[in-house]
Amino acid sequence: MIVFGPPGSGKGTQAKRLGEKFKLPVISTGDLLRKEIELKTEIGKKAQKLMSQGKYVPKEVVDILLLNRLKKADARAGAIFDGYPRTMEQQEFLVKRLHNHKILGVLVDVSDQEINKRLGGRRACICGHIYHLKFNPPKKAGRCDVCGEKLFIRNDDKPEVIKQRLGIYHEQTEPLLEYWTNVKSLIRVDGEQKIEKVFKDIVKKLQNYKI
Ligand code: ADP
Ligand code: AMP
Repeated sequence: MIVFGPPGSGKGTQAKRLGEKFKLPVISTGDLLRKEIELKTEIGKKAQKLMSQGKYVPKEVVDILLLNRLKKADARAGAIFDGYPRTMEQQEFLVKRLHNHKILGVLVDVSDQEINKRLGGRRACICGHIYHLKFNPPKKAGRCDVCGEKLFIRNDDKPEVIKQRLGIYHEQTEPLLEYWTNVKSLIRVDGEQKIEKVFKDIVKKLQNYKI
């Protein structure tokens, strides 16, 4: 399953819930890249500047991370992708690579206006869990409910970077949806509802698909 949507639409939030429900690993290329940055690897060094500017990381870098992650045993029965593919090139690579798998797209539809509210209050944990100061606060302020680590503000959640990320999304990622609508399958949900309601809508619409 691929979760599509603009940055800040709630892809990660929904992907985590879907992963728990269907017992599938969530593969977030953003999380994989942030891990590389934390570990100060060569990949991390290459990615850091581009990410902080809201630009996409080169295909070769992201594809390697994705392939390595897909090799792990837990991804054998399937996976939920969050943030991949983002470009036509990545999409061609994925479709070719997974030609014998069934892939379904899910679009979390949110307007640019709403995105700004969401990303301003986002707090993230290095373990991948996502919070919002107002819409999804952690139980203990500043700490992850799951692992207890200190939450952080992503350095690409600044107004000028958000604008850049939205522009790149509309230009490079949104056009991919045509393929999922016309050639594959795409579920669309209204992402401007409460987190639980968005999740319920996705699960309801998934009932029409054999997973
Ligand atoms: P993405 O993975 O698409 O960048 P996230 O899942 O990180 O988006 O969500 C962005 C921010 O919006 C987070 O702070 C998250 O807690 C919050 N959020 C996610 N879904 C909703 C929703 N339906 N309503 C309000 N806030 C939401
Ligand atoms: P995300 O956590 O999905 O919001 O991704 C954060 C940032 O990581 C993006 O703004 C890009 O700089 C980079 N990134 C994540 N996934 C990809 C991808 N598939 N292709 C290129 N860059 C990516």
